[in-house]
Amino acid sequence: MNPTLRRLRNRLVEEAKRRLKQPKQFVHFTHHLEADRILNDLENFPHAFVIACIADRQIKSEKAWLIPYELKRRIGSFSIGRLAKMKIGDFKNVMRRPSPLHRFPDDMAENIFYAIQHIVHHYDGDAKKIWNDRPASATLVRRFLEFRGVGPKIATMATNILVRYFRVPLSDYYSVDISVDVQIKRVFSRMGFVPKEAKADYIIYRARELWPEYPGIFDVVLWELGRTVCRPQEPKCQECPWARLCSYPNKKQSAHGT
Ligand code: SF4
Repeated sequence: MNPTLRRLRNRLVEEAKRRLKQPKQFVHFTHHLEADRILNDLENFPHAFVIACIADRQIKSEKAWLIPYELKRRIGSFSIGRLAKMKIGDFKNVMRRPSPLHRFPDDMAENIFYAIQHIVHHYDGDAKKIWNDRPASATLVRRFLEFRGVGPKIATMATNILVRYFRVPLSDYYSVDISVDVQIKRVFSRMGFVPKEAKADYIIYRARELWPEYPGIFDVVLWELGRTVCRPQEPKCQECPWARLCSYPNKKQSAHGT
């Protein structure tokens, strides 16, 4: 790795560590305050977080993360006891009517039904027990993988969010991978860590190579950067704190002979 890239990596990690030490803040998953309140209430509705993670595929994230709130409204309760009494057909009804909550409402209804049953039978109905015994990161990812419909991408994302936003302590962070999405992909490649056309697996291994003890640590800084200054068109490099070390503005300057 060239010295500039090494410096950039080190400074990104320092900044991420600084942010992770700050007190936990309310997380805006959707643009809906009530929906976000349920998702932030890991004490009373930890299963809402699990259901939202499970639903977060093949539709926009904001829509998926609204599902626990919508289910609460349609069912009239979101207690685990009430949900545990529902059959697959009941979930299909509430997922479909009056309007579909997901692109694949029946499939998702089944996944949610089995998730509730899994929480009841393996965690005494308390989804917090999935993460509140200070598990190893690999254990936590594996526990999410045990839910029907959850693959490595969702399991890693769920683990990453619990660590990054909810400050859930783990005994190690080796298996908390970077959560590759369009923001991360764009910023990571502009900075010069991966080629522009890099695939998700490549980016994941690159992050592991860069910071093996916690590869997902880059998400803490990069995701927000991608949503604010490092936009797809016309990145605002003049406003970016990483511009001096980032390869994108430097390459542009050399191309213009400045
Ligand atoms: S300097 Fe520009 S290209 Fe690099 S991360 Fe910042 S906004 Fe993105």
